[in-house]
Amino acid sequence: MNPVGKPGKTASLMPVEAALARLLELAAASPISEREYLPLAEVQGRVLAEDLISTLDLPPWPNSAMDGYALNLADWTGAPLPVSQKVFAGQAPEPLQRGTCARIFTGAPVPAGADCVEMQENAEVQADGRVRFIETMAAGQNIRPQGQETTVGELILEAGTRLGPIEQGLSASLGCAGLNVVRKVRVAVLSTGDELVEPGQALGPGQIYNSNRVVLCSWLQRLGCEVIDAGILPDDLATTRTRLGELQDVDLILSTGGVSVGEADFLGIALREEGELALWKLAIKPGKPLTVGHFRNVPVIGLPGNPASTLVTFALLTRPYLLRRQGVKDLEPLKFKVPAGFDWPQAGNRREYLRGRLEQGRAIIYRNQSSGVLRSAAWADGLVEVLEGRTLVAGDEVGFIPMSDLLG
Ligand code: AMP
Ligand code: MG
Repeated sequence: MNPVGKPGKTASLMPVEAALARLLELAAASPISEREYLPLAEVQGRVLAEDLISTLDLPPWPNSAMDGYALNLADWTGAPLPVSQKVFAGQAPEPLQRGTCARIFTGAPVPAGADCVEMQENAEVQADGRVRFIETMAAGQNIRPQGQETTVGELILEAGTRLGPIEQGLSASLGCAGLNVVRKVRVAVLSTGDELVEPGQALGPGQIYNSNRVVLCSWLQRLGCEVIDAGILPDDLATTRTRLGELQDVDLILSTGGVSVGEADFLGIALREEGELALWKLAIKPGKPLTVGHFRNVPVIGLPGNPASTLVTFALLTRPYLLRRQGVKDLEPLKFKVPAGFDWPQAGNRREYLRGRLEQGRAIIYRNQSSGVLRSAAWADGLVEVLEGRTLVAGDEVGFIPMSDLLG
């Protein structure tokens, strides 16, 4: 692995890009190949399994972009024209009678023989019902031509597209009642740690509430995954083995905690015994230790347990891994450059993802960036990226990744 930043200090840390590339390779090697056909209303959050090709022209016929009058410019001499028909949206017009105009409304098919629509604001209806056109008109004006948006045979959505309201609408406009989507990824969520108890129970001495579990379970649902909530795993080897063994029909076991250096790492031991284990030390903060391997044949990713570390490593590494397993191509989260609204005097040897906000166009950061502080992320609108080896003064550019983009 290429060291980043100052040699010596960082030589043993894996750069974020390298870790992501490796995870995406692993994901591409075990794609979810099953698919299912779902009614359009149920595809939200899912991934399209095959290209969507248009079987229609859109619009299917030329239609009016305005409420007004359709006419043939050759008939317009300056004299008023009689109205020979009225065309509402949803009607099939007669061909235009020469020497006349047609009253027409937005979305209505333009009668054959008409080559322009004049908006009603530029037309004067005479006492005898004929219409005088006041402004100069041009051929094609206010007509949405057939196939303007889409023509038959065009690729509309590529396999691997994530489906949301817009894609559902586009599919509906083409007449699709349902779509073939990739089967949901089944993810088992395990929270490890003897200190953890679930909200609703009394806290004993030394105990804390399990927050990672609900963070991951809801986030995974937002990503279109099927979540198997596997509860809390005590720091104990025998139980770890048994519980992992019970999770054989999932596509990923996602655990948190128990990967800190020096700790008795029961997940790691179990993976070494009955699978494979790689312990990555990442140039990322919060984060750093990441377990990647499998138990028997089930892939396992172990995230660090500190809530902000869990959040950042899930957002930047696990999320793209899970999307790639579903065949998603476009994985880059939105990131834009903004001036920092803070100083960063001490260069770090890991890439930092500070929980921050935009205020008057500048990124500001939460006062406490400890990896244990989930509140920093609740306060934040995004992750502020400070590259390894960098110092900053206010006004220097930083990357800003909106949380809204990562959460969906
Ligand atoms: P670990 O990676 O197990 O050493 O955990 C690192 C820190 O994160 C410790 O302070 C843990 O108590 C805390 N932690 C681990 N798992 C969770 C969890 N599910 N919810 C909240 N905090 C956790
Ligand atoms: Mg622990």
